[in-house]
Amino acid sequence: MQKLTRREWFKSSGKVVIAAAVAPAVLANVAEAATSKATQASVQYVTHPNGKEMCSNCKFFIPGAKANEDGGCKVVAGKISPRGYCTIYMPKK
Ligand code: SF4
Repeated sequence: MQKLTRREWFKSSGKVVIAAAVAPAVLANVAEAATSKATQASVQYVTHPNGKEMCSNCKFFIPGAKANEDGGCKVVAGKISPRGYCTIYMPKK
């Protein structure tokens, strides 16, 4: 086994310390990107239906406390009207 000089040891251990310090921040960004939702503007969300297509019959809709109250969406951020609509509408099967 090759012996490391003190300088070599400090150089290599410094990289480990930097990697350990940076890794949590990188992982947090990756996790946020994986869980972040689209903005309402980016999917052209509107609070009125597009014919029969509306959030209440979209597979991504998360209903509010009552049927006619705003709820949420699995893929779009913010409050979502059951009578709303956006460009990534997907009917429930
Ligand atoms: S994907 Fe669009 S249409 Fe479907 S529930 Fe979310 S905001 Fe409404």
